[in-house]
Amino acid sequence: MGSDSPVGPVLMLGGGLAAISFVTTLRGNGFAGEVCVVETEAEPPYDRPPLSKDFQREGDSEKIRLDISRAPNVEWMRGRTATAIDTRQRRVRLTDGTELGYATLVFATGARPREIPALRDAGVPLFTLRTLEDARRIRAVLVPGARLLVIGGGVIGLELAATARGLGCEVTVVEAADRLMNRCCPTTLSSLVADCHRAHGVDLQLNTQLKGVDGARVALSDGSTLEVDAVILGIGVVANDELARAAGIACDDGIFVDAFGRTTCPGVLAIGDVTRQRNPLSGRFERIETWSNAQNQGAAAARALLSTEPAPFVELPWYWSDQFEMKMQVVGLAAGDAEIVRGVPASGGKFALIQVRHGRAVGVACVNNAREFASLKKLLALSHLPDVAALADPSTDLRKIIQRAI
Ligand SMILES: Cc1cc2nc3c(=O)[nH]c(=O)nc-3n(C[C@H](O)[C@H](O)[C@H](O)COP(=O)(O)OP(=O)(O)OC[C@H]3O[C@@H](n4cnc5c(N)ncnc54)[C@H](O)[C@@H]3O)c2cc1C
Repeated sequence: MGSDSPVGPVLMLGGGLAAISFVTTLRGNGFAGEVCVVETEAEPPYDRPPLSKDFQREGDSEKIRLDISRAPNVEWMRGRTATAIDTRQRRVRLTDGTELGYATLVFATGARPREIPALRDAGVPLFTLRTLEDARRIRAVLVPGARLLVIGGGVIGLELAATARGLGCEVTVVEAADRLMNRCCPTTLSSLVADCHRAHGVDLQLNTQLKGVDGARVALSDGSTLEVDAVILGIGVVANDELARAAGIACDDGIFVDAFGRTTCPGVLAIGDVTRQRNPLSGRFERIETWSNAQNQGAAAARALLSTEPAPFVELPWYWSDQFEMKMQVVGLAAGDAEIVRGVPASGGKFALIQVRHGRAVGVACVNNAREFASLKKLLALSHLPDVAALADPSTDLRKIIQRAI
């Protein structure tokens, strides 16, 4: 990974959550040098999680603004995009021809929705969701009775499906895999989420793919067709890593970073959704596309930049998702070789699922159970599981069980 470099001026590419966390931490830790943030969107910074949830219901963009007040004296270049970097001269070129120098360059360029190019000219209103502008356009079509097809049963597609259904839309979700949230939650939870969506009237088609779209008529792989007013693609994201790749920095759908946010190029860091980092549980380099990663990896990289004895960033990946009455929090791996169920798993219930591998807890999913999530997360740090019967009994005091095991 890159060697130490003079710290300032600091140039950030991208001004989302990870960048704001980084610059706020720089200033909070006394860095007084030059900081500039180049951001494609002209919009003042905002939080993305509400875009698939509250924002669709309320439409209030001011409510979701990110706080930049603790990052004073930062030059914000909004509505500008970086198009090339020269890592030897330490210069970045923007779309309008401006050139900026840096001592430290930070990629915080995030990711963008994966698309199906063939659908662009299919004659049906087609949407993806990443930006506030995307969310505004989607919001305009979520009217009672609108027929919506969501392609992809991942977190964002399902959150939008739930919100749209709540707003009175007719919603179909097609998912190619045999279960929902395939990459990121245990199978037990997938089934409950599916039950919940179906109970709320979502037409859920698993093991199904899109065959073709002709105007409002959509053909599915099971031979059926349906009429829709709009199609929303929720088939994952790709990292905005092209500039880094072009500059010879190691990337593979994401910029490789170490536990200090350092890339393979001296003086260049990367943080947030654009990175590929070592998952402390799987041991693999992965993209971790979560709010807490953007926030905490961003802050950790800033502290590391300023420190002579930096602390590595080793957070266990976790996320939350809200769909209908299910408020979920998931940490660690989605599958073990056994599962402990605490509480009664039902879509409206309060429960926890603990994934166990070789006698250790490797993942926890809580539903409507935020109070126990913090305690259960601590299980993942233990080298062996405490009393399984007590863990499975929701009347036991978790804090005591875990305290005894530490
Ligand atoms: C609809 C939605 C709902 C979500 N819900 C949840 C949730 O419930 N729970 C959860 O844990 N996580 C959720 N997330 C994920 C979370 O919001 C992201 O992980 C987080 O926002 C990533 O922050 P980031 O700063 O790395 O990237 P981004 O927020 O994507 O910021 C990157 C910025 O870089 C800019 N940029 C890109 N290229 C350039 C360039 N060349 N020059 C200048 N600027 C550039 C982009 O315009 C963008 O603003 C959700 C995400 C979305 C989209």
